[in-house]
Amino acid sequence: MRTFIQAIIEFIKIILGKDKPLVPPIPPVIVVPLTLPHPEEASGTSARTIEDIKLEWFVQWDVPDKYIKFWNTVKIEVTTKVSVADTIAETKHMRINPQWVNQGVLAHEMAHISYALLTEQQKQDFILAYDSVIGAPLLVLLREQKPYSLTSMVEMHAEIYRYLGQSMMTELKLFYPKLF
Ligand SMILES: [Zn+2]
Repeated sequence: MRTFIQAIIEFIKIILGKDKPLVPPIPPVIVVPLTLPHPEEASGTSARTIEDIKLEWFVQWDVPDKYIKFWNTVKIEVTTKVSVADTIAETKHMRINPQWVNQGVLAHEMAHISYALLTEQQKQDFILAYDSVIGAPLLVLLREQKPYSLTSMVEMHAEIYRYLGQSMMTELKLFYPKLF
């Protein structure tokens, strides 16, 4: 039986708001869409020289200082003889169409030179390392948005560096000599 005192206590609880049902606050849901860390640059001729572009690549892809000298020995030819770009990794000779002189294309071609420094065993190990992180969201995104990466493992290697840069999975960085 409810006593007068109990009724008073209940009344005070109501006044103090203690009996109000607790509604947990709903945290705001912020969905940040995943994007490629180094998105595609606009193509087209630019007033920037190949040297300017190379400096931007060094900075934006965080190329280690100790390897800058090595990368400066790559001969870069700006020529309309190629539709986009190509590289003879062994002789470190790169050709880029003037319309495609940008950091991303440079990063892709430089990755081919880095790949050529791997031994045959390391090239096989790269495939295994890639398979071990194949489901990483950034790699899924890369394959979706840049199907050119699926052309071959060599192109995949270059596209991972070009679009992910320092954000690539740690397991893969081992296979990018002189870039990390
Ligand atoms: Zn390529």
